[in-house]
Amino acid sequence: MKYLYGPVKSRRIGFSLGINLTPHKTCNFDCIYCQLGETGALSLERKEYVKISDIIDELRSWLVNNKESAQSFDYITLSGSGEPTLNSGFGELIAGIRGLTPHKIAVLTNASLLKDSLVRQQILGADLIVPSLDAVKQELFLKIDRPDPNIKIEDIIDGLITLKREFRGKIWLEVMLVKGVNDDIRHIRKLKEVIDRINPDKIQINSPVRTTAQVGALPVAKSKLNKIKFILGDKAEFF
Ligand code: SF4
Repeated sequence: MKYLYGPVKSRRIGFSLGINLTPHKTCNFDCIYCQLGETGALSLERKEYVKISDIIDELRSWLVNNKESAQSFDYITLSGSGEPTLNSGFGELIAGIRGLTPHKIAVLTNASLLKDSLVRQQILGADLIVPSLDAVKQELFLKIDRPDPNIKIEDIIDGLITLKREFRGKIWLEVMLVKGVNDDIRHIRKLKEVIDRINPDKIQINSPVRTTAQVGALPVAKSKLNKIKFILGDKAEFF
């Protein structure tokens, strides 16, 4: 398979069939905890990195040839090896999937482009959006997510708040916590204030478990994650 992978079980959304919309590590972030390795040159341009019609053709044929496996997962997930919303055709892909199968559609995104009304319009066709938010101040955002410096965390937060107003599906906000980087309790309290404004349906607390882009991006101890979960409230869960 060229663009599809799985079905795989992920800690965040259970069994899903994944779709790659970009070549390996096409991203506008270079998160220190990224499991895909260093980004190299950041990709800022939205374009059809992978042809949407090719993805739809592959999915159509996979569904025809894997009828039994197609019963075994809930979501088709737009994610893979980069930031899916950088593919300018991802809205067209969502519409194409709808025409092929009743499976629910999830999008995993770093939320960097949600300030853009066109991107929000495209993502509204999904059933579940899993955006990331690791910091609420620019300095810390630059340290953990290492984005292009023109990307502002205030814009990401505004985009998430607007998305929640417009989107009829579920939003599960992911917070990746790295020991000694963004797990300070004062930061968690500020994060909580911002998350309350965004009002996601769930808060998924995560911490690195596999090889990461930067050596030393370490997991937070379970006892501290428990404390953080308590601060973030009833919607919070961790894996
Ligand atoms: S946003 Fe995702 S793909 Fe991009 S660097 Fe961060 S973890 Fe890796």
